[in-house]
Amino acid sequence: MANSYDVVVIGAGTGGYVAAIRAAQLGMTVAVVEKQKALGGTCLIWGCIPTKALLEHAHALKVIQNAKEWGVTIPAGTPAIDMGQVHARKDKIVTGLTKGVEFLFKKNKIDWIKGTARLAGNGKVDVFDGDPPSREATAGKHVLEAKQIIVATGSQPRSVPGITIDHKRIITSDEAIHLKEVPKSLVIMGSGAVGVEFASIYRRFGTEVTIIELLPRLVPVEDEAISAELEKSFRKQGIKSLTGTKVTKATATDKGVEIEAQTPDGKTQKLSADILLVATGRGPVTAGLGAEELGIQMDRGYIKVDPLFRTSVPSVSAIGDVITIDGPHPQLAHVSSMEGVITAERIAGREVQPLNYDHVPGCTYCDPEIGSVGLSEAKAKERGYDVVVGAFPFGVLGRAKMAGETEGFVKIVADKKYDEILGVHMIGPRSTELVAEAVLALRLECTVEELIRTIHAHPTFSEAVGEAAHATHGAAIHM
Ligand SMILES: Cc1cc2nc3c(=O)[nH]c(=O)nc-3n(C[C@H](O)[C@H](O)[C@H](O)COP(=O)(O)OP(=O)(O)OC[C@H]3O[C@@H](n4cnc5c(N)ncnc54)[C@H](O)[C@@H]3O)c2cc1C
Repeated sequence: MANSYDVVVIGAGTGGYVAAIRAAQLGMTVAVVEKQKALGGTCLIWGCIPTKALLEHAHALKVIQNAKEWGVTIPAGTPAIDMGQVHARKDKIVTGLTKGVEFLFKKNKIDWIKGTARLAGNGKVDVFDGDPPSREATAGKHVLEAKQIIVATGSQPRSVPGITIDHKRIITSDEAIHLKEVPKSLVIMGSGAVGVEFASIYRRFGTEVTIIELLPRLVPVEDEAISAELEKSFRKQGIKSLTGTKVTKATATDKGVEIEAQTPDGKTQKLSADILLVATGRGPVTAGLGAEELGIQMDRGYIKVDPLFRTSVPSVSAIGDVITIDGPHPQLAHVSSMEGVITAERIAGREVQPLNYDHVPGCTYCDPEIGSVGLSEAKAKERGYDVVVGAFPFGVLGRAKMAGETEGFVKIVADKKYDEILGVHMIGPRSTELVAEAVLALRLECTVEELIRTIHAHPTFSEAVGEAAHATHGAAIHM
């Protein structure tokens, strides 16, 4: 195996492995250092893929639980979930995908260097078997030389002050995807995408679920109408939501967790649960990387980059969950991949443009699903637009009635002056797929009128997007 490469990538998550493939496609010699036993990072091993696999199991159970409505007869007894089979199926999907990345590395002649990387300066990367020893220790097991280095070391779960994660009773998403048994009760701290997805999974599996959210509403990054609809649906499903509430103490015992929380009126509420899932966000993985020693500018542990993902040290770039950039930076797989493509192309000398973070789709796979892109109604007003909105409920559509999935709506936020679409927010069936049309609409600076003139096939869920456009002009056809 060579020691000298055009590009060395540190980390083989959705940022790193995509950057590596794009760099190889553009004719560069590439190595990727990855410390895990499999390629694919958080998304493939602990995140997007295994959680969505569990959600598909929850959906299958939902359909079977409603067998009578579908005219399907099943032998007497209550349908239940077999966690052994659930994990076997999920693990098979994960392994298939991580092996797929290995295949792509071979196809593109990318070397996978197994081990933990540390930046050593002067275009050098030390690679160690375990965690890197201190800087003063002897040189690394393997030294790589690179003309360009891309850091894509990602993120890991983090707690909040005062809450100690013991990985048994007080857990993170890394443990929540591996639970061997369905807990009787689960309290979830945080109602971002991770929190509400696990709420949907375990509620459907039969768990008593309570979500505690510090801010006044669930999924606080979404448009307010989406939060309200989700809270309504969760209430119907028996998921309790305590918003504006702060967990102040959590103590693991032999039997479960004792939790104290401060409610909006300042009172203390006590809760007991089998498990507390801490889903309050993720922090950067930069410990032991040698970034600070190299003089790379950092911010609260994150690597600071410019709009084209250059760090303060020439020939070192950084992408994905590990970076901070001017303005909000969503920690999402598709964001890290696009940053990887842009970085590889810039290094190859291609002309590239900064990413427009207003055009990043957000997909939350709870039940009902959420898909959104662009400005919420409140954000659009904050930015000074003369805002007009229109919404259309899925429940009116023939396709939704046939599928028995009638919750939710599509809402469009537009600028009255130029009729430009500023944001599209949807909650309901297939929203994580339907949002793709809205992403393209924003990218092409589409007007509401153009969306009205775009033909939406019948009968489909996508008719809700066309009808929401009509509604924005005050004239929905089927309402
Ligand atoms: C439960 C959960 C569900 C999620 N669901 C979604 C979703 O549905 N859609 C979505 O878009 N996003 C989702 N995400 C977020 C998504 O997984 C991340 O945004 C994405 O994985 C970030 O990619 P990355 O390449 O920046 O980092 P990571 O995927 O974290 O990869 C970093 C890699 O670097 C390796 N590494 C770190 N340090 C070193 C070192 N010194 N040497 C060698 N290797 C190193 C790590 O082992 C890891 O493999 C989810 C996350 C979680 C936790």
